Amino acid sequence: MTVDADMLVIGAGPAGACAAILLATAGWRVVLVEQHRYPRQKVCGECIGAGNLALIDRLGIGPEFRRLAGAELRQVGWMMTGSTIRADLPSSPELGRAYGRALGRDRFDALLLERALATGVRVLQPAKVRALSGTAGQFECDIIGVATGADRAANPRAAARVLTASLIIDAHGSWENGPAFGTRRSPRTSPRAADLFAFKATFHHTGLAPGFLPVLALDGGYGGMVVSDHGRTTIACCLRRDALQRLRARHRGVPVGSAVEAFLRESCSGVRDALGSATRDGRWLTVGPLRPGVRLQYPAGVMPVGNAAGESHPLIGEGISMALQSSALLVDMLTQRRCAPIDVAAALHQQVVYQAAWRAAFAPRLRLAALYAQVAMRPALARPALGVLRRWPTLLTHAAGWAGKASESSQNPTFIEETP
Ligand SMILES: Cc1cc2nc3c(=O)[nH]c(=O)nc-3n(C[C@H](O)[C@H](O)[C@H](O)COP(=O)(O)OP(=O)(O)OC[C@H]3O[C@@H](n4cnc5c(N)ncnc54)[C@H](O)[C@@H]3O)c2cc1C
Repeated sequence: MTVDADMLVIGAGPAGACAAILLATAGWRVVLVEQHRYPRQKVCGECIGAGNLALIDRLGIGPEFRRLAGAELRQVGWMMTGSTIRADLPSSPELGRAYGRALGRDRFDALLLERALATGVRVLQPAKVRALSGTAGQFECDIIGVATGADRAANPRAAARVLTASLIIDAHGSWENGPAFGTRRSPRTSPRAADLFAFKATFHHTGLAPGFLPVLALDGGYGGMVVSDHGRTTIACCLRRDALQRLRARHRGVPVGSAVEAFLRESCSGVRDALGSATRDGRWLTVGPLRPGVRLQYPAGVMPVGNAAGESHPLIGEGISMALQSSALLVDMLTQRRCAPIDVAAALHQQVVYQAAWRAAFAPRLRLAALYAQVAMRPALARPALGVLRRWPTLLTHAAGWAGKASESSQNPTFIEETP
């Protein structure tokens, strides 16, 4: 039986690109499908924790990452109304006390994709995986070219094709529906007050100190600011659906991004100070609804990584870490066997082992992020938290470490083969 690829990877965010690079380096035939042309902007706070630096080196982009990224992130903060508490961010002792850095997703994702091409990954872009069928060993992937801009005018009927692959990695993220599998479609869900809507904009000439990473505690949401590469400052936040509805009612007729920016300025004096004479670079981007949680149930042979497997509240800024590290976890498991499982029973066994390893590595981070998020979004909890942090600011250092910023908890999890 011949297939076009050992592995088809859906989505070239950090999770998909990382899996593709590691598998191609191990000699697998990999096809990576990405619906957007790069470079592209993405709603994200763009901080990459110190615990990823070894993996970034393993991916072969370490020197370029260090050349491009912003200043080392050495301080964390808690900003609320007129107060700002500061504390040290933990570093990674294994890497000579290295610190996390911030790099715009337009650059980071393009860097990973370039590396994927260099390692022999076949990249289809812009192209979208619409549907999957078949079983482990012989999946059929229905892929359609995505025509954009001038291409769309010149060629309105984008080419469709079917590729076969032994296994599938689903790295399509979590902010839009993934491809249909057979007759299984993404479930329709009704709106909830707790749904999150995320926003991001980039500014130049802000007053924010490079290397400082303040978390913003907002009434009905949370956010963060950081100076990333080339002096750009990224501001990203999440608002609950009910808080956003109230905000829109107060700012009728105003673009939602401008209403969110006004809300951030009025909520935190730290944001007002940082944005004093800043200029915004482009528009506010938005995505949603976000529903943090674990989503590991997939058909045998289709394995989720990154946000497709599980999403933490973005407050802790660990989504890129989990994307990279979950891919490394899966690839290490697959490559220990030296060949792709080609039957359903083998794929099912690997699925179960991977799910257990994923939960052990990442579920505690999701729970902790949910706890921090509930505190940050509720002034009745955030105010006492501010009082405690004012007294013991080093708690912020520990909180960042527990969430994955310190090397102990963010080391790349290694896979331990189960004895049959
Ligand atoms: C407000 C906010 C702030 C954040 N801040 C941080 C932070 O500071 N640090 C951090 O580490 N994390 C942060 N995150 C989380 C982080 O952005 C995500 O966890 C991360 O992007 C997940 O990576 P991924 O590769 O799983 O998915 P994504 O980055 O979403 O990539 C998925 C890719 O798949 C493509 N795709 C989707 N469907 C298809 C299809 N059918 N066919 C082909 N391609 C497809 C998409 O175009 C996309 O490029 C933040 C998130 C938010 C919302």
